[in-house]
Amino acid sequence: MEANRVYNFNPGPATLPLEVLKETQAELLNFSGSGMSIMEISHRSKEYDAVHNKAKADIKELMGLGDDYDVLFIQGGASLQFAMVPMNFAINGKKGNYVLSGSFASKAYKEAEIQGVGTVAASSKENDFRNVPKQGDLKIDPNAAYLHICYNNTIYGTEYHYIPDTNGIPLIADMSSDMLSRPLDFNKFSFIYAGAQKNLGPAGVTIVVARKSFIENSPENLPTMLRYNTYSKKNSLYNTPPAFCIYMVGKVAAWLKKQGGLSVLAERNAKKAALLYDAIDNSNGFYKGHAEKDSRSFMNVTFRLPTEELEAKFIAEAKEHKLCGVKGHRSVGGLRASIYNAMPYEGVKCLTDFMEQFRTANK
Ligand SMILES: *Cc1c(COP(=O)(O)O)cnc(C)c1O
Repeated sequence: MEANRVYNFNPGPATLPLEVLKETQAELLNFSGSGMSIMEISHRSKEYDAVHNKAKADIKELMGLGDDYDVLFIQGGASLQFAMVPMNFAINGKKGNYVLSGSFASKAYKEAEIQGVGTVAASSKENDFRNVPKQGDLKIDPNAAYLHICYNNTIYGTEYHYIPDTNGIPLIADMSSDMLSRPLDFNKFSFIYAGAQKNLGPAGVTIVVARKSFIENSPENLPTMLRYNTYSKKNSLYNTPPAFCIYMVGKVAAWLKKQGGLSVLAERNAKKAALLYDAIDNSNGFYKGHAEKDSRSFMNVTFRLPTEELEAKFIAEAKEHKLCGVKGHRSVGGLRASIYNAMPYEGVKCLTDFMEQFRTANK
């Protein structure tokens, strides 16, 4: 670790690979021999075009997707996708069907409800969102325009360990906090979206990966910027894109390829998660995980201490050990360690060493 850096467990914006930050720094004043930074170059220039298209190609390559899929860059965060998805797809009397597995899943559903097109296929709210509904719990509307799921629930620390079988209904997933963290059969999804600031880059761009045939016909009555086919037809260059964000997402994608791709990342992420969950499970009840074991997230590990006083003390002392951003979301309380792709194993090891030390001193 760099001397003046910390281990950053923030949920998003979140830690980025050090190599990516250094490369960005080195290129900042003179990108690709242009004598300008990437932020000062025209989005119609050939230098930017190369960055834009390479980022798209690398994301598709990492996900193992072919020509029938497109990658779009959109602004407005994952939250704008909550509204755009029903606007574009829940049309002609068809509704959007939602699985409620946490805060963001519920927010997505709320946007469909505002438009009068949301229905619920399953919910784990009664269980404080400690689990992701199982296949057998899903009551999928056979006439739905799509089934919407949130693949990793950032706040509650749960994640799908299966891809729902929808019986032919297009599957849409919010993967804001676990996109590119492990290989999946992405061909089973019609539409995937992710705000970049969790696992992919800086805030300011949302990545959409969608089956081309699913997004080619957007309703004509929607404003231009809210229609997916505006982005697909114009290669996400209808208007000025968030060029610097896309440039950094491209660097992260190239870094992931250099590490060996998603299967290597998945192995590393599973090791980090196991270390942390073992520290919780082997603490004689001092640390209590929020998520049920079979729904545990590889990305966001949520847990509680015996009292809120101890939790506050833990957060303060962790900071002294250069372990930052471990406070849980206000709606769940407790602690949360976000251990995305860019968090090294050593960072998680420092955290679990500290946890053991803290437990011994305070049990
Ligand atoms: C953070 C997050 C969001 C919200 O993203 P914004 O880009 O802030 O709108 C949505 N879904 C999930 C799963 C998230 O983690």
